[in-house]
Amino acid sequence: MIKKILIANRGEIALRVLRTCKELGIQTVAVHSTADAHAMHVRLADESVCIGPPPACDSYMNMNQIVEACEISGANAVHPGYGFLSENAQFADVLENNGMIFIGPTAAHIRIMGDKIEAKKTAQQLGIPIVPGSQEKIKDSIEAETIANKIGFPVIIKAAAGGGGRGMKIVRSAEELPLALSVTSSEAKSNFGDDAIYIEKYLETPRHIEVQVIGDGRGNTLHLGERDCSLQRRHQKIWEEANSPGLNPEERQTICDIASKACAQLKYRGAGTFEFLYEKGNFYFIEMNTRLQVEHPITEAISGIDIVQEQIRIASGYGLSLSQEKVRFSGHAIECRINAEDPVTFLPSPGLITHFHTPGGLGVRIDSNVYSGYRIPPYYDSLIGKLIIHGRDRRECMMRLKRSLSEFVVDGINTTLPLFQHLVNHQDIINGHYNIHWLEKYLSEKP
Ligand code: ADP
Repeated sequence: MIKKILIANRGEIALRVLRTCKELGIQTVAVHSTADAHAMHVRLADESVCIGPPPACDSYMNMNQIVEACEISGANAVHPGYGFLSENAQFADVLENNGMIFIGPTAAHIRIMGDKIEAKKTAQQLGIPIVPGSQEKIKDSIEAETIANKIGFPVIIKAAAGGGGRGMKIVRSAEELPLALSVTSSEAKSNFGDDAIYIEKYLETPRHIEVQVIGDGRGNTLHLGERDCSLQRRHQKIWEEANSPGLNPEERQTICDIASKACAQLKYRGAGTFEFLYEKGNFYFIEMNTRLQVEHPITEAISGIDIVQEQIRIASGYGLSLSQEKVRFSGHAIECRINAEDPVTFLPSPGLITHFHTPGGLGVRIDSNVYSGYRIPPYYDSLIGKLIIHGRDRRECMMRLKRSLSEFVVDGINTTLPLFQHLVNHQDIINGHYNIHWLEKYLSEKP
């Protein structure tokens, strides 16, 4: 039985998890660095524990401090949110060894999917189509060239332990290959502690399509449809939609069934996301994320299902709250990630928010941790809120998004809001005609 949950995170996601805990009548414990002493998640939780100085490696990433905070507060379960320790298999092990519940998948599944080479191998064994490329880690540049010539240039070199859009390099010719290999490998070593790299065919016009799955760990699973996360800058998502404007109903059914079946075969536990690239009618698996995603609210909007509640139910041993046949999808949802960044240079813009006013009305959800008078600390990522819009169809959703953006006021810092104001008025976006390279191209051509 879960009595008290420690939320090992900060920002909007800490608040998001807290909300579901409250609705379930579960006690909550917030943890925070000294820089976050006045943060909203600390204010709203039943209890809070300071776990260290501002740098994340000394606080939100510090496993010992978090386990100690569980012991002090009597929390018997931990929700990791996303980022930080959410995909750290050792953390899941440490909690279990200390008699605490990790609200997430097994450490074994986190390990497999955390290594992208292993993840692709596993996906292939489960019958999922993958992006053509190397089967194992690359040993030397001769082997790399042989593979690249076989699949054809351009190729993309990726770090097996990579994440967050980092650790990838596009290579367009054999001459560029040796340098790109050594740079990617040494960057992988210093950023992720693992120099293993692999090669994939670089797709020129794909969409990023991902499927939300939930499993009870015993082979019962369901999918909650797909999300289209093709609007990206530096391989980082900034706008997500459910459903994808680029898939027809048959394609949607096919990819969702593939993901749900794979989840069942794995006996996967908890919430997870299978990520694919989709090009010319074909899907290619790229990775699986073994945690809650930033963009999960659009899935909640179209399915009416609280994904965090499902995670907690499963971690408590109650299983899934419903079967696939009972899932009813309705309407269309879009999420915009509002970052404290300059909308042109994308440089971080921390500091004091002098005035913060959010839009409201039917179909408008704001997941944010900031408020008027809040000072954004410079130590963490720049996401200050998510605007999640739901409409009966895509057209209504876009009109509602446009209206909501016009109501949103954030004074004192720069945000990415002006970028979204441009995007909602662009014909390609209105038509849903975009792929993973669209935004970079648009930004480079914008006057
Ligand atoms: P991360 O774990 O860092 O998010 P992913 O493997 O999920 O990395 O890839 C992130 C993004 O990078 C994808 O959504 C896509 O835009 C781009 N990308 C990844 N693999 C390829 C590929 N083979 N061809 C073209 N773009 C790719």
